[in-house]
Amino acid sequence: MLARSRLLNLLPQLCALQPSLAMSSVTGTVTIHQPLNYRAGARVQPADGGQAEDVYEPATGRVITKLLSSGEKEVDLAVQSAKAAFKIWSQMSGMERSRVLLEAARIIREQREEIATLETINNGKSIFEARVDIDISWQCLEYYAGLAGSLAGEHIQLPGGSFGYTRREPLGVCAGIGAWNYPFQVACWKAAPALACGNAMVFKPSPFTPLTVVRLAEIFTEAGVPKGLFNVVQGGAATGQFLCHHPDVAKISFTGSVPTGIKIMGMAAKGIKPVTLELGGKSPLIIFSDCALENAVNGALMANFLTQGEVCCNGTRVFVERKILDVFTKEVVKRTQKIKIGDPLLEDTRMGALINRPHLDRVQGFIKQAKEQGAEVLCGGDLYVPDDPKLKNGYYMQPCVLGNCTDDMTCVKEEIFGPVMSILPFDTEEEVVERANNTKFGLAGGVFTRDIQKAHRVVAALKAGMCFINNYNISPVELPFGGYKASGFGRENGRAAMEYYSQLKTVCVEMGDVESVF
Ligand code: NAD
Repeated sequence: MLARSRLLNLLPQLCALQPSLAMSSVTGTVTIHQPLNYRAGARVQPADGGQAEDVYEPATGRVITKLLSSGEKEVDLAVQSAKAAFKIWSQMSGMERSRVLLEAARIIREQREEIATLETINNGKSIFEARVDIDISWQCLEYYAGLAGSLAGEHIQLPGGSFGYTRREPLGVCAGIGAWNYPFQVACWKAAPALACGNAMVFKPSPFTPLTVVRLAEIFTEAGVPKGLFNVVQGGAATGQFLCHHPDVAKISFTGSVPTGIKIMGMAAKGIKPVTLELGGKSPLIIFSDCALENAVNGALMANFLTQGEVCCNGTRVFVERKILDVFTKEVVKRTQKIKIGDPLLEDTRMGALINRPHLDRVQGFIKQAKEQGAEVLCGGDLYVPDDPKLKNGYYMQPCVLGNCTDDMTCVKEEIFGPVMSILPFDTEEEVVERANNTKFGLAGGVFTRDIQKAHRVVAALKAGMCFINNYNISPVELPFGGYKASGFGRENGRAAMEYYSQLKTVCVEMGDVESVF
């Protein structure tokens, strides 16, 4: 790959070479095509677009393109187009749908590098991680392609030869609303089971990361879905509200923060629509003294520093049994200081830039407050300015480990959504389970120990939807994922997600005569 500086210098020439991309810009090795709304199999300007918003590259802080948000009319057109496509798609057999989804997975694999590069440019995560996201995405499509043909009901025998049967039917047009930390992957986690079950989807990504989901829409069209089956509307809260309130939207699947989740649930309640909420977390990671120390240290790093710490299920409250507190902490700090920060497009970078300046400031605010409340910064926490002058306006910070933490500190109670780990000592199993559960959230939890009974006992006691034993933050598509308590409900991934994108119809069949009581 060409160095970033070289590519940025080439930008004007490349644009001049491709006049057909008048509304597009070339960045890195990829082209950002416009427009960014997608309806009925094509990119479209929104019918009633609002003001153009800047879209940033977190690594450099520069504006890479403009976003026109979708108003009520555009949202309605997208839903109507999805409704028309639903009529065709829902009548196809599971096996027919499966073939199309497999083809979409194949195209994603083929375009992996381009999609990952676009994701890195728009999100700021390292290219190394973006590639993993894209791999998880096509695997998700393959998995649900495999399940599409198995969607089935039951046959139930009744007296006198009569019987009943159940049909698992799609819901209709589903709304998908995504967060900015895993833009392409979140869209695939929603679209794959939704489409496998025979639904259509209108997806709204975060206005910070509007780019890659439009590629997904194009790939679905190329793979052969009926035009309109997967449409993209763009914008922020207002666009999301139009979508949630739309009477022809049958279900809402939301990934984002708890405050927005509460609003989404309110809107769903008004329309009596089923809703899946994948919300925030403040998950515990429990390290017992009998763990394999190197694995536990690796687990703690994985639990805190992927995607600059902007991961919902991160294990940010790291409870360490006092006996190994010093040795564990020393090792974690040493390893954290070695994390290579910088240009996310470089192969050896392991931590890129945070999503935007306000979010970086917010994360910095949490660290300042932690210090005021008595926590000790064991490493990192400061802004990071890469040597490359092109990156000087990027949103970088050094990953931070906080010691001397107590359960009542804000950094331990609130979701920071940045690279900040809090270390908390504990003495007994009973104590740590109680403290781990003492949170409004319940997304994930983890335990490191060599004692197999203790491991299962502890995860059984954790009030969290996704638990890890002797690992953390891996997300195989085969396993259901979702939260307890304020972290939401409903599940993505695994067979379980099929339940959330389908509904059960019962058919009662009489084989005899009707015996009327009248
Ligand atoms: P956010 O709640 O600010 O926004 C999420 C999405 O909702 C965006 O697309 C946004 O435009 C839209 N939105 C905002 N207000 C809306 C409204 N009133 N009506 C309809 N839509 C609205 O969250 P974010 O900052 O984009 O993402 C970070 C949060 O997401 C964190 O809390 C993180 O934990 C959570 N998250 C959860 C999961 C999960 O699977 N549990 C995964 C990723 C992120």
